[in-house]
Amino acid sequence: MIPISRIQHIAEKLMAKAAIEIPEDYLAGLRKCAETETGDLSAFVIKAMLENYEAAKEDRRAMCGDTGVPRWYVKIGNEARIEGGPVALEAALRRATARATSAVPLRPNRVHPLWRTDHNNNVGINAPEVEYAFHPEADWIELTTVHKGGLFGSDYRMLFPGDGIEGTKRFYLDTLIGFGRRGLACQPAIVGIGLGGSKDISMILGKQASCLRVVGSRNPDPGIAALEEEFKDLGNNIGMGAKGFIGSSMVIDCHIEVGYCHTGGMPMSVHMFCLSSRRACARILADGRAQFRTDPMWFTDYMRRSTVEWGEQAAQAAE
Ligand code: SF4
Repeated sequence: MIPISRIQHIAEKLMAKAAIEIPEDYLAGLRKCAETETGDLSAFVIKAMLENYEAAKEDRRAMCGDTGVPRWYVKIGNEARIEGGPVALEAALRRATARATSAVPLRPNRVHPLWRTDHNNNVGINAPEVEYAFHPEADWIELTTVHKGGLFGSDYRMLFPGDGIEGTKRFYLDTLIGFGRRGLACQPAIVGIGLGGSKDISMILGKQASCLRVVGSRNPDPGIAALEEEFKDLGNNIGMGAKGFIGSSMVIDCHIEVGYCHTGGMPMSVHMFCLSSRRACARILADGRAQFRTDPMWFTDYMRRSTVEWGEQAAQAAE
């Protein structure tokens, strides 16, 4: 049984890690951009950001003044047992969010949409978001926190099968140019694209693709992996660089996740995980020990399964 006090303790540590330490994969991607960036101002911003990450880590302070909106992704092993069950788990994540907001500190960004009520702790109605997934034959749970910035860098469009891949490129470029020009998400960004599903799933997949896959990872479908490369190059050739200045570093990487959709449509969403691509993850074992990492490893074969059954049942069904 995983003790709930342990879950809260690890969650608080993750909140601080995410806010302060830029993940290695994003850092490596930005260093590559620094080598190839063609625009003077864009190159200056990238250099300043690389120095800023170092300073944040050294001073143990948040890497950006806007600490984003903290959210949680929880993956639960099929055999995991949590003290107090899922309600206790959610309470622990809300407590960790509130405590870290004053301890790190984080900017208390969350307010009521109409009354602007502010609990001063990033907790409120439907905040922080908690999304769940499951994993077969495992007795651990995994917590990932993402402090999503780039508030306005997301968009959705219902495309149709006839729009084809060319239509997806058009919407992608429209979004990058439209949002980039108005400076609504600090680039270079990890761009996540959700293709297919219903409208809500398309949005969820796109955000997960931007926030939960590491720079350099590729979709296991070779056709989609090729598209990810193509989209990355396209994005870096629109003439825009870091923070919207003229340059060639708009996209650190592009990730695409798909879901089966209605035969009459092809919903698509585009999301940007900004210069502060904040995520931290830990697996908590059945005995309470924690293994920290920055790769959430969210999209597993199980998560992307397309069969009715899984494991032995799937093998039997195929015979
Ligand atoms: S978009 Fe990202 S880097 Fe820019 S201000 Fe917001 S959190 Fe900070």
